Amino acid sequence: MDFKPAKKLGFGMMRMPLIDKTNDADVDIEAVSKMVDMFLERGFTYFDTAWMYNGFNSENVARKALVERHPRDSFTLATKLHAGFINSKEDRDKIFNEQLKKTGAGYFDYYLIHGIEEGLLQKYEDLDCFNWLLDKKKEGLVRHAGFSFHDSPKLLDDILTRHPEMEFVQLQINYLDWESEWVHSRECYEVAAKHSKPVIVMEPVKGGTLSKLPLEATQLFKEKDENMSIPSWAIRFVASLDNVMVVLSGMSSLEQMDDNTSYMEDFKPLSEDEKKLCFKAADIINNQIAIPCTGCSYCTEGCPMKIAIPKYFSLYNENMREDMEEKGWTINFTNYENLVKSGFGRASDCIACGQCEGVCPQHLPIIDNLKKVAAHFEH
Ligand code: SF4
Ligand code: SF4
Repeated sequence: MDFKPAKKLGFGMMRMPLIDKTNDADVDIEAVSKMVDMFLERGFTYFDTAWMYNGFNSENVARKALVERHPRDSFTLATKLHAGFINSKEDRDKIFNEQLKKTGAGYFDYYLIHGIEEGLLQKYEDLDCFNWLLDKKKEGLVRHAGFSFHDSPKLLDDILTRHPEMEFVQLQINYLDWESEWVHSRECYEVAAKHSKPVIVMEPVKGGTLSKLPLEATQLFKEKDENMSIPSWAIRFVASLDNVMVVLSGMSSLEQMDDNTSYMEDFKPLSEDEKKLCFKAADIINNQIAIPCTGCSYCTEGCPMKIAIPKYFSLYNENMREDMEEKGWTINFTNYENLVKSGFGRASDCIACGQCEGVCPQHLPIIDNLKKVAAHFEH
């Protein structure tokens, strides 16, 4: 397809470096600008943002670090419309026009209906978002239309059958979720291929989970090739899939960008043996991971108790990796208290309203998991 970028790595602008680490919107523009420059210098072009990334500030950052500093034809920009922020047909345009203003991009190379799943699909259909997106294409404000998706292969098949006008799909694919009964990476990938839709991969490193592995899995990879970083295996695994056109990596530092771009600049797909190694590592990890949260933060916006759900899950997972019996205490206890002091609700403040579980793309039992977090950190 002619709209595929020449290189498969995309810069996901959703976990950008922060100045105040407790405030997702306080992005370090100077650091991001350096990352943007390195990315473009090495021949990569695909940037991905969305209305609510980095505390609703990602699109502004895209303007300041990218659009205002580089010629418009030297990069492509993708953004998205999420059902959580629209209640009427007018809202679609309100957000779109604001996105044009925030990014200063003039038009979007790729525009996605964001995070389709069973619970949101009806709203997108009721508000006629698919036809609306085609109208934006006709007006020249969008070059290519697609959607991101978090649900079953069957629903994906239904949508692609009913909406052949969608040009691509964005799917969560990584070696850990390849056979997952919740995420269905492999099956969804196969459905997209059946409909001849190129795939953009999100969460290739599963929110950082695949960058820091249990020792046994790390050793597997290092024995195979000591020069390749651990996250490189996750990114190269998905980039090796034929029908994948872009792999999004939510890069948070210049070092990460340096590493990712080094092996994606002149990309060589994994061999069959190397892919098998990834699945072996997945078995090891699956036996050890406590809460498989990707840190996407979709759950936090509507939480009435302002609970820092993904941050708490991350601290909990870290502690579960530690030998707690031997250590008794880790810095994560202090980190937990510091988050509470900075204004977040405690895990035990959860009133079980269920809002978060309704929007979690990983379908996690958040309420039960918060009980575990509270029992661990609050005694
Ligand atoms: S169930 Fe608990 S964590 Fe989830 S939104 Fe409600 S109060 Fe927040
Ligand atoms: S709990 Fe679910 S929605 Fe919340 S950050 Fe984790 S994966 Fe995302």
